[in-house]
Amino acid sequence: MWCFYDKLFIGGEWVRPASQETIRVVSASTEEVIGSVPKGVAADADAAVAAARRAFDDPTGWSTWPPERRADALVRLAEYIDKYSASTAIRVSSQNGMPVSIGKLTEGVMPATLLRYYAGLIRDTPVEEHRPSLVSGTTAVRREPLGVVAAIVPWNFPQSLTFFKLAPALAAGCTVIIKPSSETVLDAFLLADAVEEAGLPPGVVNVVPGDGRTVGTHLVQHAGVDKVAFTGSTDAGRTIAEQCGRLLKPVTLELGGKSAGIILDDVDLHRSMRSMFSSTLLNNGQTCFISTRILAPESRYDEVVDAFTAMAARLRVGDALDPRTQIGPVATARQRHSIEAHIAQGKTEGARITTGGQRPQDLDRGWFIEPTIFADVDNQATIAQEEIFGPVLTIIRYRDEDDAVRIANDSVYGLGGTVWTADPEHGLAVARRVHAGAIGVNGFTLDHGAPFGGVKSSGLGRELGPEGLYPYQQIKSVYLPA
Ligand code: NAD
Repeated sequence: MWCFYDKLFIGGEWVRPASQETIRVVSASTEEVIGSVPKGVAADADAAVAAARRAFDDPTGWSTWPPERRADALVRLAEYIDKYSASTAIRVSSQNGMPVSIGKLTEGVMPATLLRYYAGLIRDTPVEEHRPSLVSGTTAVRREPLGVVAAIVPWNFPQSLTFFKLAPALAAGCTVIIKPSSETVLDAFLLADAVEEAGLPPGVVNVVPGDGRTVGTHLVQHAGVDKVAFTGSTDAGRTIAEQCGRLLKPVTLELGGKSAGIILDDVDLHRSMRSMFSSTLLNNGQTCFISTRILAPESRYDEVVDAFTAMAARLRVGDALDPRTQIGPVATARQRHSIEAHIAQGKTEGARITTGGQRPQDLDRGWFIEPTIFADVDNQATIAQEEIFGPVLTIIRYRDEDDAVRIANDSVYGLGGTVWTADPEHGLAVARRVHAGAIGVNGFTLDHGAPFGGVKSSGLGRELGPEGLYPYQQIKSVYLPA
């Protein structure tokens, strides 16, 4: 596959980039160059902000359309997104190593699902509510579109995470500049094709790839950008939060995680193991909310370690585009180095590898790493505290339920988590005690109708569900005397 673009999608047109520089995209499975796009610079970001601003400020434009009209446009866009869904999944999997069986759902199906969901939501939710005043008269409480949004996204789920922002932002009446990650840009260009073919007004959606520290920072600090919606690392999130803080600019941050999977002593491990795979190693472990710290009771510790070791050793590792692949390569050579450094650190911290820990011997191209299980892990160890973002799990002992909850909460992060038990009611009671934004009992799925986000260093604000729409709306009260 060779995807070559020499223009950027700004203001509804394919325009020449300001710089001659390019981003070369490499397949994580084969290490071959599979595409190239222009590398956006500050001048391209300026052009995109100007286009988005014009589209937003147009007195009869997108932001002023009645919700029904915008909902129709979102549904039309969903049809074109559907048209490209198979190609999108292939592009994402080629770039970041996501097994294509997962990519088809999260990157192929999820984007249009989100567009249709938010189209339905704005059709059903009045933008103006008249409340009797507590003094006299009435107050009209209005939800107005917030403005121009910079959506900055990472490489691990590039399309679904884009649509976590794009779908509610468009539904609210905002205009958007998407800044994809340089590792996964090719799918963003298909999204631009869909926007163009769906006939969205010029400037409503713009795509500017480029470095985070240049184009990303430029967008965050740009006076023409009214809101930043960011998913990525906690370090970058902290920097962005500081910049937005100085500018008093609203920001949503979806950041890292080191979630706990609490296995209660009554669990039927045999029944649970299938869903435990997707809640622990989804997308080669490159998923922010997965439970990468497995907390096992003393009484069943060895059994849990054996079950996870057997599951990880059985996983089929291979080319991300092979539909039978369960674990593909990690996204970049840099990412594999970082994972290997964590594995080495884990060994020095006294943890015991029960399976994996190496590069697979039969795969000499691609950034593969074996699914790896660490047993006898202390929760204070680096491998239990830091996000590894690869196919590496740590299994930690606990004494009793209070100890399990204490360990689960002993983390700077608070994004996801799971509780595994034969008694879901009891599991819910334990889940209530865990400091996390989204947690599952006997499984975890991202429900687009329910809010998702983190506490502590995992982020600020929520995406998805009706709550995911509110950050793109400005609330205005209009007082009407009796
Ligand atoms: P990253 O922070 O390096 O980059 C994310 C995006 O931000 C990229 O587009 C990048 O170019 C841009 N960027 C980087 N620094 C920036 C800056 N200072 N200003 C503006 N933009 C900047 O993250 P990554 O390596 O691409 O992604 C992996 C991280 O994302 C992991 O930590 C993971 O946990 C996190 N993540 C979180 C969620 C969530 O919903 N909480 C989901 C997926 C990934």
